[in-house]
Amino acid sequence: MNKYEKLVKNFVQKANSGIRVSATKAIRMYCLDCMGYQYKEVDRCPSQLRCPLFHFRKGKNTTGISNTKKKVSEISLRNLSERKSKE
Ligand code: SF4
Repeated sequence: MNKYEKLVKNFVQKANSGIRVSATKAIRMYCLDCMGYQYKEVDRCPSQLRCPLFHFRKGKNTTGISNTKKKVSEISLRNLSERKSKE
């Protein structure tokens, strides 16, 4: 188990125990899990047009748009609709 896998497991335990966690941090943890706990692979993720989490994969909002809950979900929906239109 590498240090990022431990980090994700600890984060999940924290979230499951009822401790409040941020949505962007949760996405970061999800992306680490998605990429086999390889930090650099998350940065190199090739799924910009396929994954609605892409712009949040670094644990912050890289869209340049304020990350209020409403806008984050709007961005995710827009990414999903772009993905579906390309399929
Ligand atoms: S942006 Fe999507 S495809 Fe890329 S690492 Fe995150 S969850 Fe996986």
